[in-house]
Amino acid sequence: ALSFASGMAAISSSILALVKAKDHIVASKILYGGTYEFLTKQLSDMKVSVTFVDFKNLEDIENAIVKNTKIIYTEPLSNPTLDISDIPSISETAKNHNVMLFVDNTFTPPPIFQPLKFGPDVCIHSATKYFSGHGDVVGGVVVGKVDFIKKLSEVMKYYGGIMSPFNAWLLLRGVKTLAVRMEKHSKNALKVARFLENHEKVEKVNYPGLRSHPQHSLAKKMFSNFGGMLSFEVEGGYEGGRRLMDSLELCVITVSLGEVETLIIHPASSSHAQMPKVKREKIGISDGLVRISVGIEDVEDIIGDLENALSKV
Ligand SMILES: *Cc1c(COP(=O)(O)O)cnc(C)c1O
Repeated sequence: ALSFASGMAAISSSILALVKAKDHIVASKILYGGTYEFLTKQLSDMKVSVTFVDFKNLEDIENAIVKNTKIIYTEPLSNPTLDISDIPSISETAKNHNVMLFVDNTFTPPPIFQPLKFGPDVCIHSATKYFSGHGDVVGGVVVGKVDFIKKLSEVMKYYGGIMSPFNAWLLLRGVKTLAVRMEKHSKNALKVARFLENHEKVEKVNYPGLRSHPQHSLAKKMFSNFGGMLSFEVEGGYEGGRRLMDSLELCVITVSLGEVETLIIHPASSSHAQMPKVKREKIGISDGLVRISVGIEDVEDIIGDLENALSKV
């Protein structure tokens, strides 16, 4: 493994270590915003082409692979719709075509999911999130086989996105509690998801640990637990989402995730407010969609805060 100054440094350095002009990448059409921008803007300037497909459809992935495809790139659990990429099957496809599979595992860190056990070549984390756990570090980690890591360690020197010593120290401290935090995040998130699923003002809940999740059985096959990320659609669309946000007292309204505190966001009025509605809905962000990174507080406090805020919607 190698550590980087940020998740994006880890992602861009890993991709740049492998591709050159005229190469091709097959990527999931729902990716972290920074990764999407890097793939579309930076790489197209360098004459690297990218085909975006729906990663729920294995056939679409296979059909997108061409002679010069170098990387298949995805996130096991998509944001904010919580769709699952079938990593074992995609890995088989990648191997059949001699293409590297990159997985951004930020949402489902160990012990929830250890992608390399299922065949992918490279696993990337934004350590800014769960690895740190306390919202006080920016960092990235890349895990892979020796040959790739050697190649990457050569280019990382020149791109310069290395982790600072102080951040490394903070990160080592945070990572000691990663396993216990993930257990509590998962336990709390399942309870919050069940509470929301039974609430009359909630139209839909997306959480891989719920039996109602269309890929629940795949989630059970891949993940040892279901993690802390969930999203739901509140009644009343855009206004409903706004009113919910305005009435919260415990949950922290912010864009990040993976911290000990519960973090919540209404993408339509914040992170994706600049995006046209049609485009936003194509990536699963409806007017009333709310995303929660469930923290490790007493779960009754989290549910109490949501219950109170939902009563004002
Ligand atoms: C935050 C995030 C990143 C980028 O990480 P930074 O450390 O903020 O650069 C990449 N992928 C996912 C899934 C993320 O959530």
